[in-house]
This record gives sequence, C-alpha cells and structure tokens, in this order.
Amino acid sequence: MTGDVARRSTLAMTGGRNTISAGAYVDGGEHRNGGDPLPVANPADGRVFAEVAGGTAQDVDAAVGSARRAFAEWSALAVSKRGEILARAAHHAEQHLDELIPMLTREQGKTLRDARIEVTKAIDTLMHYAGLSKALRGGHAPNLDPGVEGIVLRRPVGVVGAIVPWNFPTTLLSNKLAPAVVAGNTVVAKPAGTTPLTTLRLAELLHEGGLPAGVFNVITGSGSTAGTALATHPDVRKIAFTGSTPVGEQIMASCAKGTKRVTLELGGSDPMIICDDADLAAAASAASMGRFYNCGQACLAIKRVYVFDSVADEVIDAVTAKAKRLRVGRGDAEGTQMGPMHTAAQRDEVAGQVERTLAMGGTLATGGSPPDDPDLADGFFLLPTIVVDPPHDSPMATEEVFGPALPIWRVKDFDEAIERANGSQFGLGSSVWTRDLHRARQAAERIEAGYTWINSRTKVYDELPFGGWKSSGYGKEHGIEAFDYYTESKSVVMSSGA
Ligand code: NDP
Repeated sequence: MTGDVARRSTLAMTGGRNTISAGAYVDGGEHRNGGDPLPVANPADGRVFAEVAGGTAQDVDAAVGSARRAFAEWSALAVSKRGEILARAAHHAEQHLDELIPMLTREQGKTLRDARIEVTKAIDTLMHYAGLSKALRGGHAPNLDPGVEGIVLRRPVGVVGAIVPWNFPTTLLSNKLAPAVVAGNTVVAKPAGTTPLTTLRLAELLHEGGLPAGVFNVITGSGSTAGTALATHPDVRKIAFTGSTPVGEQIMASCAKGTKRVTLELGGSDPMIICDDADLAAAASAASMGRFYNCGQACLAIKRVYVFDSVADEVIDAVTAKAKRLRVGRGDAEGTQMGPMHTAAQRDEVAGQVERTLAMGGTLATGGSPPDDPDLADGFFLLPTIVVDPPHDSPMATEEVFGPALPIWRVKDFDEAIERANGSQFGLGSSVWTRDLHRARQAAERIEAGYTWINSRTKVYDELPFGGWKSSGYGKEHGIEAFDYYTESKSVVMSSGA
C-alpha cells in the first residue's frame, strides 16, 4: 500500500467526488481484504467519502501470520534498539501531522483543534515508551539458600491484538502499540469500522520511518467479523481492548479459551464533586471542558456533577453559561469549539437518554436538541445539554452518557456526594474540587475509581497507570506498569552448584 493511501487521502482532502478505497495493512504493505466494503462517512454532513474492505477471518489470519513471522527477529533485538526504532518511526509520523489531523477530523468529526491534540498526544505516547525502553527490567533475589539465587526474567507475550474504538482512534491505539512493541511483541490492530483511515496511514508512516514489516499490522473491518476473529485467533496471545462494557465482557469470555491475556479499558460515568469551599469558577470551567471536549465522547468525560447545595446555583449558572457560549459546528470550520457526534445512532442514543430522563423529572437548563442552523442539518449534531436534578434512578444517572449532555445534582454534604459518586456500576475516573486538604484526601481514598483528580482538569498522563475499577475495566494502560501487561515473567533459580 505504500504511498497509495497517502495519494488517495490527498485526493479525498481536495474534496473531489472520488471516494478513497483502502484495504488492510499487513506485512508492511497493502492487503486486499475479502469482505464487503464498509462506508466511512463525514459526521459533519453524513456524506460517505471512503470505503474500506472488511476483513474476514482469513484476512485476520494473514495479519496474525505476518505478526508471528516478525516476532522472532523483533523480540530478539536489544530492547534499547526497539526503543530507538520506534522513536525514529514516531518522529517520521510527526512530520506528517498536517495530513493526519484533517484526516482524523474528516472520519471522526472532532474539531481540528481536538484532532491536533489527539494526534500529537498519540505520537508523544510512542516517544514516551521509546524513552522508557531502557527502564524495562526484571528482578533478582539473592541468597535464596546458600549458593542459590533467583532471577525474574521478562519476556514478550507474542502476538497482541489491539481493538480500538472510534472516539480517539490514534491515542487509544498508541496506548497499546507503544508498550507492546517496546516490550518485544508484534501487533495486529483493529480500528473501529467507521474510523480506519488515520490508523492505516499511521501504520504506513511508522513503517516508512523504520518499523520493520509485520511488527504493526492493521486489519480493517467490523467488530462482529474482524474483531471476533482477532479475539478468538489461537495464535494471538493477548487482547488489549478499549470499548464498551458489554463488548469488553464478550471479549473477556472469548479470551478464556486458550487463556489469552487481556486488558480492558471500558465505559465510565465519571463523577465530579464540587464542595462549598472550591474555586467555583475553575471548577465550572473544568466541568464544561471535561464534559464537552470531543463532543462528550470520551470514556473519561465528566458525566455526573454533584455540587454542595449552598453553592449550587452559582455553579449551575456558570456551567450553563459556558455550554450556551460553545460554538458548535463542522470540525473543519474555523472557530468551532464542539463538532458533531460521530454517528446518527450515537446522537439519537444520547438525545434519547436526555428525553427519557426528563420524562422522569429534572429541569432542562440548556440544549436537548440539534442546532437550528440549516447548514448543519445533515450532520450528527447535538447542542451542549445540561439537566439539573434529574431522579437518581434516571438514565442520565445510571447509564453511561457518551455525548454532550451533563446532569448536575445538588447534594447536602460531602458524605452524600461520595455515596452518590460511588453509586454506579462504573469506576473509571473521578474528580473533586475543594480547598480542604482533609476532604481532598478523603475523596482520593473513598471514591471507587482508577483515577481521582483534585482541583485539576481531567488530563491523562503517560506517567501514571490508568485503568478502571468495577465494570470500567481490567488491567492498566500508561505508566511503567503498562509493561507488566505486555510481558510474561519467569522465575529462574540458579545454584552455583557448590
Ligand atoms: P464498542 O465496544 O462497540 O467497540 C469498540 C471496538 O470493538 C471497535 O473497534 C469495534 O469494532 C470492536 N468490536 C465490537 N464488537 C466486537 C466483538 N464482538 N468482538 C471484537 N471486537 C468488537 O465500543 P464503541 O465503539 O461504542 O466505543 C465507545 C465505548 O468505548 C464507550 O463505552 C466508552 O466509554 C468506551 N471507551 C473506553 C475508554 C477507556 O479507556 N476506558 C476510552 C474510550 C472509550 P466496530 O466499531 O468496527 O464494530
């Protein structure tokens, strides 16, 4: 495929009527899948501008075969060499940001600004793990018995399947690809059927930049066909999955066969607690950014706000004013702050959750419908929406709301806020705003979630392990800890024989 997708993409970016037609990326080149084509539409206007052939079980087998063949040589390299190769490849991809960013906006819908943040972060994560390559270590236990010592070796697991959703196609891929290949594994990635293009181009760029053929393969296609074939392939030793909780549970069940390793980054319904002593303006700003960034389609979005009654009116007014001010429009239009949702189905699902909630109670403070601009009528838009004090058993309280709609509740005190925050099947992220050190510490201890931000925007750091509790996932990504999920350890007992 070398060059082809680039040329096709350039063609598409000119706005020509031709559609891009691509296949998978296997063994350092294009692989023509055997399945039916999947359309790729621009969420800003609903128009199909590309199609990608769907991968069948045979195509997945070809991609896994390529990764298997590459494994022996790749895993035998010095780990620092693997880091060096990845860094060079990532640097090469970075030279093509101006191509990757509009491509991501076009297939995903997000604003150019959000696309820049995402792709830059994806490359940064590749660099981060390239830099950590020399920190990958095992262990040593001296004097287990006289003349006997123990060594803990770490070995790559083998072929890793990386299954990625459509909301952050590149960063969620990098979170898996980077620690996997630095640790010596080879990868077959399956992007969402609706967002394959940036991933395919990234694979090509990394290969051009020096990542050997077969180390990183991309299989396009639907979750039900290509995803299932990857998750059940006997030669795949680990699945790293990001997506919804129901599909994650299915993947975990598939991985039981053959005891595949698995990491699951699943849904969330992150609570934010705003106490009466908080910097209310900063908290309102973090709530708006945390909910409406990426049009609310983030696992770590702020999805429930609990604010102390005594300051609630001020916070609700401030967040509502911010939501009303957000400029909604096409992702590629100058000055747009919030783009469309990714698909009509996603938009309808979130609008439905708002409607079912309001039928049970609560007050609509703003939003709840698509914008009335006729230029946006064909896109999948929904205005930033705020619902105040809906029932605690309504859909916006109990389900994950994967779009720009935020419920805000008044609570009487800190204990009620913590109880409400924990009253969810999810346990991904959480945040608390207070100037009281004791409360901050209590929140960090008591909230059931893999991340707690204190007086901070919900930014994720490569340096810190990230992963959900409860139905939000299993295992960790990010941090040096990510290597634990891409290596097997082996204990070796060595006697001097004396
Ligand atoms: P899905 O679970 O539907 O899809 C995620 C990926 O899995 C896609 O590539 C999809 O392919 C594939 N897939 C779907 N069904 C199967 C299957 N049976 N076997 C193997 N693969 C399959 O999630 P969404 O696309 O709806 O993504 C949004 C969800 O992801 C939200 O719930 C969100 O919270 C969660 N998420 C979690 C994050 C985290 O880090 N915890 C981060 C971002 C999102 P296809 O789309 O082609 O069908």
